[in-house]
Amino acid sequence: MLKLFNTLGRKKEEFKPIKVGEVGIYTCGPTVYNYAHIGNLRTYIFEDILKRIFLYNGFKVKHVMNITDVGHLTGDADSGVDKMLLAAQREGKTAWDVAKFYTDAFFRDMEKLNIIKADTVCNATQHIKEMIELIRRLEKKGITYAAGGNVYYDISKFKDYGKLALLKQDDLKAGARIDVDANKKNPYDFVLWFTKSKFGEQEMQWDSPWGRGYPGWHIECSAMSMKYLGEHFDIHCGGIDHIPIHHTNEIAQSEGATGKKWVNYWIHGEFLVLETGRMGKSLGNFITLQNLTDQGFDALDYRYMCLTAHYRKQLTFALDALEGAKNSLRRLREKYIEFRKETGKADEKKLKSYKEKFTDAVNDDLNMPQALAVVWEAVDDKNLNGAEKIAVLDDFDKVLGLRLSESKEENVELTGEAKKLVEEREKARKAKDWKKSDELRNKIESLGYELKDTPEGTKVKKK
Ligand code: AMP
Ligand code: ZN
Repeated sequence: MLKLFNTLGRKKEEFKPIKVGEVGIYTCGPTVYNYAHIGNLRTYIFEDILKRIFLYNGFKVKHVMNITDVGHLTGDADSGVDKMLLAAQREGKTAWDVAKFYTDAFFRDMEKLNIIKADTVCNATQHIKEMIELIRRLEKKGITYAAGGNVYYDISKFKDYGKLALLKQDDLKAGARIDVDANKKNPYDFVLWFTKSKFGEQEMQWDSPWGRGYPGWHIECSAMSMKYLGEHFDIHCGGIDHIPIHHTNEIAQSEGATGKKWVNYWIHGEFLVLETGRMGKSLGNFITLQNLTDQGFDALDYRYMCLTAHYRKQLTFALDALEGAKNSLRRLREKYIEFRKETGKADEKKLKSYKEKFTDAVNDDLNMPQALAVVWEAVDDKNLNGAEKIAVLDDFDKVLGLRLSESKEENVELTGEAKKLVEEREKARKAKDWKKSDELRNKIESLGYELKDTPEGTKVKKK
C-alpha cells in the first residue's frame, strides 16, 4: 500500500488512483529568469523520487511540468516587478533569450541530478490561448471583474477559497493580507490578465478580449495541467511556499471554472535553508549546483544528501553534511564495484525480503532515510553474495537514482611525497620487509590516502 501525506486534509492517506494502474502528476516548474538554486533542486529531487516510487510500484506515470517564462512577479501575490523583465535588464538580453538560456541551464542540472524528464514540458508563453479560454470560462461564470485595466479573480465568488492553506473565511473578509493594488475588491483577489501593465517596457504581450497584455502567474498552471492531464487528476506537487498563494489560487481558478474537484492529492516539499536563514532567487543569496561542482562535489552527492532527510522536514544545507553524503556515496560505489567482481548466482528468495523492506519504506510517504538504512543493511549483510547484493542495489537504484551501475574505480593521481612513499612501500613489499611496509602504510594514510593490497597490486584511494 502506498501512503502519501496530503496537504489537503493534512494527513497521510492511502493513494487511490483515478484510473487503475495510472497516475497523473503535475509539478510546478522553474521560473526561468535565473539559475535554479539548490533549494529549488531539492524540490525537483523530491518530485523525482515520488515519480520513481510510482514507477517502482508498477504504475504508468504521466508527468507534466510547466516552464514559467512570463507573468511571474517578484511577489507571488501580484506585487513587485516582473522577474523576466528584471533579468532581461540585468543581462542586456531580450526576455525570450533569458528564458531560453535558463531553461537550457535548468535541464542540464536535471540531467546531472539524474532527474527523469517530465513526459510533457510546457511553456507558459506557448499556452496563452488556453489561458485566455480559461479566463473567459471564469468570466462567463461571473467570477472575475475588470478594474484599472486588469482582469481579477473575485475570491468572494468561490466558497472554498483557501481550503488548501486553511485560510479562515473571517480572515479573508477582514483582508489580513496587505496589498497596494487599489483595484482589488479584496486583498486576496488576484490578477488573471494584465493589460495596463505596471511595466511599460514589458516586451512579452499578447492580444486578448480584454486588450493587449499578459497573463497573471497562476493561470498557466491551471490551464496547462488541465490541457494535458484532464480536469480531474491525481497529484499536484511543489514546494511548501506555494500552498498559501500559488496553489490556493490555482484551485480557485480550476475548480471555479469546472465546478468540481480538480486534484486529489497535494504533495509539498519542505524547504532547504542555509545556516543563516532562507535562501531565495529573489533574495540573491543562493547556491547553484555549479557552485557545488566548483568545490569538487558531484551533483549526485547532493542528491544523496537530499535522500538523508525526509521531504517534509526542513533541511539545513552545510558543507560538512554534503561532505558526509559524498563519502557515503563513494563508499557505496566502492562496495558496488567489489560486489560486481564476486562470482555467484543470485537467490531470488533472499532478495525478496529486502525488496519488501525497501518498498515498505518508500511507500510510507517517501521515507528515504529509512530506505537508505535498508540499502546499508543489505550492503553489510554477510548472508548475501555479491550477485545478490548487486541485484538488490540495482533494484533499489530505480528509486534512489544514484547511477550505481555506472560506478567506476577511482584512479588517484599520486604526486610528490605520497607517490614516493607508495613506490618505497612497493619495494619493501617485494623484499618482504613487512615492518617497513607497515610503517610506510601509516605514513601514507596520515597524508589522507587509503591503501588496499590486491592480487593486481596496491590500490590507493583518497580517504
Ligand atoms: P521557482 O523557480 O521560484 O518558481 O521555484 C521552483 C520550485 O522550487 C517551487 O516548487 C518552489 O516551491 C521551490 N522552492 C523555492 N525555494 C525553495 C527552497 N529554499 N527549498 C526547497 N524548495 C524551494
Ligand atoms: Zn504552478
